[in-house]
Amino acid sequence: MAGLLAARVLADRFAEVVLVDRDAVTEAKGYRRGVPHGRHAHGIMAKGQQILEAQFPGITADMTAAGVRPGDFNGDIRWYFNGKRIRPGHSGLLCVPATRPVLEYHVRERVRRIPNVTFLEGRDILGLATTADNTRVSGARVRERDGTGVETLHADLVLDTTGRGSRTPAWLAEMGYARPPEERVKVGLAYTTRHYRLDCDPLGSDLAIVPAPTPAFPRGAFFYQLPGHTDRIELSLTGMLGDHPPTDPEGFHAFAKSLPVPEIYQAIRTAEPLDDPVMFQYPASVRRRYERLTRFPDRLLVMGDAACSFNPIYAQGMTMAAIESLKLRDHLAHGMPQALPFFRDIGRDIDNPWALSAGADLGFPGVDGKRTLKVRLGNAYVARLQRAAVHDSALTDAFIRAAGLVDPPQALMRPANMLRVFRHSVLPTSN
Ligand SMILES: Cc1cc2nc3c(=O)[nH]c(=O)nc-3n(C[C@H](O)[C@H](O)[C@H](O)COP(=O)(O)OP(=O)(O)OC[C@H]3O[C@@H](n4cnc5c(N)ncnc54)[C@H](O)[C@@H]3O)c2cc1C
Repeated sequence: MAGLLAARVLADRFAEVVLVDRDAVTEAKGYRRGVPHGRHAHGIMAKGQQILEAQFPGITADMTAAGVRPGDFNGDIRWYFNGKRIRPGHSGLLCVPATRPVLEYHVRERVRRIPNVTFLEGRDILGLATTADNTRVSGARVRERDGTGVETLHADLVLDTTGRGSRTPAWLAEMGYARPPEERVKVGLAYTTRHYRLDCDPLGSDLAIVPAPTPAFPRGAFFYQLPGHTDRIELSLTGMLGDHPPTDPEGFHAFAKSLPVPEIYQAIRTAEPLDDPVMFQYPASVRRRYERLTRFPDRLLVMGDAACSFNPIYAQGMTMAAIESLKLRDHLAHGMPQALPFFRDIGRDIDNPWALSAGADLGFPGVDGKRTLKVRLGNAYVARLQRAAVHDSALTDAFIRAAGLVDPPQALMRPANMLRVFRHSVLPTSN
């Protein structure tokens, strides 16, 4: 996703953009090996959806025509915290609940239509080509997947969007540069996903049921309709700190039954499974602090999960890739992008979402890390806000806007929101 979004803006400034991938991406309509996480629930947040539509006008209509049913991020999704649904309202923020393969396919098809973008597929990127003094990157060494045919692609600019397994830190060390400092938040998370054909209609007109993990109820789930099928759903169960949803069908069902929201288990109890449960483990969120380096080779940039891999339960990664692609566009407007200023700029974009997700993770007692006063106060306030939002759709809205990266998290602390939280904390409520 980061590579596709970057190609969109690079194509406006360079004569030729080559997207290298180890998979046969242009044939891929479903799951593929290079993106094993693509089998699991993926939703693009409101801000990411807005950027996609701006960069690829009409893409939402394309996805709708392909069977994706859009709706409102607030009113059409059942968000639960600690077993309680936060009160729905209308946010005006568009939710387009495509699976990862469907979303990626539509973005890729748009990028394929850009005449100066080509795809070099079935190639492993082995390393960088550099000038003799290693001060400038001049291309990438790639090899065909069958092990033959190593070649060097020469380029004016190389962008690493190879995801969280990025080898740039190791390549920097080989070239005599420091590796970026890394921040890790060990969450011991796993997603286990299964698809079903339902014999009932638990969603009605809603798009999804999302019990979000909280310190009191750390097990979570994403339950939503598959595009083009009213009776088929994708269910990803999530468990943190080693409490992983099992892959055997009985264990998977038992985990679903243990959720604080009964309707998911009730829906799958008698449904027809379409496959076996598959697990994806995510040990830690990783932020590579490229902006803290003082030396960096010219003509190399890093973006997307390669720069920062966020805990997926907060669904920020694709939206951040989209936001970073706009930052890349801004830098390209001034000529050849300089690495360290680019990293400082995307670092500023990453700060808030990272603080939001890493801070929330530190609310789980088993997650290691320093709980500063800011983190503790922030978590205590958000927990109160979620409790108050059960009665107040304006707070649901505020929360959805911050989680969707439309508003900064500081917006939750606006006086009007704080007043609402306070009022619901002290006044008795009827439900
Ligand atoms: C379980 C899970 C659920 C998630 N859910 C969400 C969600 O709901 N919402 C959200 O916004 N984000 C979600 N994310 C995060 C999201 O997947 C990423 O942030 C997003 O895809 C951006 O990643 P990327 O493009 O940088 O890397 P990736 O998606 O990992 O893509 C990397 C690409 O590089 C290729 N590649 C890698 N190494 C090489 C190599 N050496 N040679 C050639 N090609 C190579 C791969 O084939 C792949 O195509 C989730 C992540 C996980 C793990």
